[in-house]
Order: sequence, then C-alpha cells, then structure tokens
Amino acid sequence: MACERCNQSERVAVKRAKLAERDGKVAVVLDVPMEECPSCGDRWLSWDVAKRLDELLRTMLAGDVEIATRHFAAPDTSAA
Ligand SMILES: [Zn+2]
Repeated sequence: MACERCNQSERVAVKRAKLAERDGKVAVVLDVPMEECPSCGDRWLSWDVAKRLDELLRTMLAGDVEIATRHFAAPDTSAA
C-alpha cells in the first residue's frame, strides 16, 4: 500500500521498539510489528497491535521496575 503522507514509496513491514515513560519509569517493548515508509519514515500500527501495545506499556509502567523491557510477541507472564 502506498504511503498516504508522501506518496513516494510503498509501506514496508518492519519491527521497531516502542517506548513509554511515566513517573520516572520507562517501559520498552521490542519488535513491535508495524509498517513504515522508507521515504518519509511515517509509521502505521494496526488497531490490534496498537491496542495490545498500549496494554503492555500500561502494565509495565504499573509495575515496580524502573526500566522494563519485553518483546511484543513474548508470552504474557504478568497476567497473574
Ligand atoms: Zn511516506
């Protein structure tokens, strides 16, 4: 699908880290699947990915770890 922003390139599937910060804590989720435009760098997340990423970051920031990292596709161990 062509980039809607610059109309120069096709979006490509990539995996990037996403970071969130709150109250002095940092949460990093690695290997988040998304599409990226090689020309302008614009990125798109699917609704499902964005929703899950939001949940992951919120859970991680709610913990007592100052810097939390995990992989997007890793099994959820914080459900208990
Ligand atoms: Zn673009």
